[in-house]
Amino acid sequence: MPKSPVEHQKLPDQGLNTRYSGPKARVSPITSLEWWRRILPVLVSHRLTFFIAISLSFVSLVFQTLIPNYLNYALTGLISHHGQSLNHDVTWIVGIGVLTGITGVISRNYVFQTAYNVEADLRSLIYEHMTWLSFSFYDRVQSGQLISRANSDIRSVQMYSTFAPLIVVQLFIGVLAFVFMLRINVELAFVAISVMPFLYLIGLRMRQVMFPISWITQARLADVATIVDENINGVRVVKSFAQEKAEVNRLADASERVTWAYVKDAELRGVWAPWIQNLPQIGLVLVLFFGGWMVYQGKLGVGAILAFNAYLLMLQAPFMMLGQLVMMGQRAKASAGRIFEILDEHSEIVEDPNASALNEISGKITFDHVQFDYANGTRVLEDFTAEIQPGETVALVGRTGSGKSTVARLLTRFYDVTGGAIKIDDQDIRNLTLHSLREHVGVVMDEPFLFSVSIRDNIAYGRPDASLDEVIAAARAANAHEFIERLPNGYDTVVGERGYTLSGGQRQRVAIARTLLTNPPILILDDATSAIDVHVETAIYRALETLLEHRTTLVIAHRVSTIALATRVLVIENGRVAASGTHEELMATSDLYNDILSHDMSSEASE
Ligand code: ATP
Ligand code: MG
Repeated sequence: MPKSPVEHQKLPDQGLNTRYSGPKARVSPITSLEWWRRILPVLVSHRLTFFIAISLSFVSLVFQTLIPNYLNYALTGLISHHGQSLNHDVTWIVGIGVLTGITGVISRNYVFQTAYNVEADLRSLIYEHMTWLSFSFYDRVQSGQLISRANSDIRSVQMYSTFAPLIVVQLFIGVLAFVFMLRINVELAFVAISVMPFLYLIGLRMRQVMFPISWITQARLADVATIVDENINGVRVVKSFAQEKAEVNRLADASERVTWAYVKDAELRGVWAPWIQNLPQIGLVLVLFFGGWMVYQGKLGVGAILAFNAYLLMLQAPFMMLGQLVMMGQRAKASAGRIFEILDEHSEIVEDPNASALNEISGKITFDHVQFDYANGTRVLEDFTAEIQPGETVALVGRTGSGKSTVARLLTRFYDVTGGAIKIDDQDIRNLTLHSLREHVGVVMDEPFLFSVSIRDNIAYGRPDASLDEVIAAARAANAHEFIERLPNGYDTVVGERGYTLSGGQRQRVAIARTLLTNPPILILDDATSAIDVHVETAIYRALETLLEHRTTLVIAHRVSTIALATRVLVIENGRVAASGTHEELMATSDLYNDILSHDMSSEASE
């Protein structure tokens, strides 16, 4: 049977997540199953609350069906045996009424508890899976849309899977009510039920008409959310190009489209709702008419009419809900399909089941005829071969777009090579556990992402247990200590979203400290100092030199001063190493190197 990757995924085991126990069950990985059978394990994991909810709602409804029957006895008794005490019947009716209320309240509590637990489980499953997916997935999808879509899909699956069984209970109660009616009077029972099929058909039709509109509303709300999201995250761009007005107009257009959908929805509701509301009244009129005639003939007690009235109301709910059930089912199926689309997405980077952990490495890196294409077909590396010795500091130099960052991403297995192999200490990185690989290879990217927490927590991100002294030592090495000390709350200063309250150079230094704290034997600095001024940059590299003596370092930099610090330079061109040697050697021998230096690099003079 086809299996989806949901089976292989692991629960995160980082210290930060110790409080979260996670969903107790997963969606079935067997893709050939019906959608609801794939969801079933999640529901089953909440069987206790669910069972209480269903059985109590059943009990509550059974109590409810008893009341009209007692009403009938009470009234009929009152009329035929003048003056007989009502106490007995009234006590029963009140008693049952109270029980109906209590069981109803408790069952409702449990229903919602189950529903929201199922929702939380589905949400964790999806987000957990998304964190597990590889970069190539995120290159492909629009994450904003994905998240808002996932939310409404989770809601509709949750609603159906918890409320459908309740509607079935309601239906059963409808049958019970009908049985009571039959016991009172067969002919009148059929008269009473005669309008119900129409109620069902109209209910079904109404939902068929309304369904596309609610779908459109959802999609348009997602559009509005995307625009708002872009405007908030891109507010600096919007303002610097003075496009506020245009953006407001764009949002107004989108929200007008939402308004249209809502108005259309109300219009349709206006047309259909009166039918749904008034059809049961016709049933009531029929009962009164025929029942009255029967009472007149002496075939029926007056109380029976009252009971019929109450039962009719009970029958009405399941018939209307049946139509709803069908529509909810269709909707949940579509939603589940989209949820499965995410859950069934394979991560391209899979850990070998026999993978070994990387321990105590010396730090030798080998690029063995590496070839690499991005998923969209862009060939970046053709035949990239190089060997970096333990402890060496190598600079990777090339024109913009030549594939320098790609080399860094391949070394941490954010993507897998399409040909050849990358080895660390002569072991193919595909044979290593992902966790140990990424623990040993630290990368600092040029656009560092900081979280909206304190500077200290940002630096300690990879090692939440680090002491303040360790954090300060890392910050000193990254030349960040002085500026952090000067901040209003020092290390406890909370940075704004994505670290926007810091300057570009400050952000980069915090990011470097963050990586240094994890003390990786192999360090990659991808344009990590591009926003830092030359003097500070040199100071950072001096500090790194002494601090990281036995560390293999790969530096991707755009300044001659930085490159000159490296023991060796690799020049990348057309997907391969075009030249290699010390900075001085290459300056003297390589035209390509000189060309790149003069065209693509910033020299100290321009700083
Ligand atoms: P720069 O000096 O500007 O940082 P770079 O040498 O680091 O450039 P890379 O980022 O490695 O260049 O990109 C190499 C090539 O791969 C470029 O042509 C780029 O368009 C392409 N590329 C980069 N990332 C992706 C991606 N996720 N999907 C498809 N193509 C990509
Ligand atoms: Mg780059």
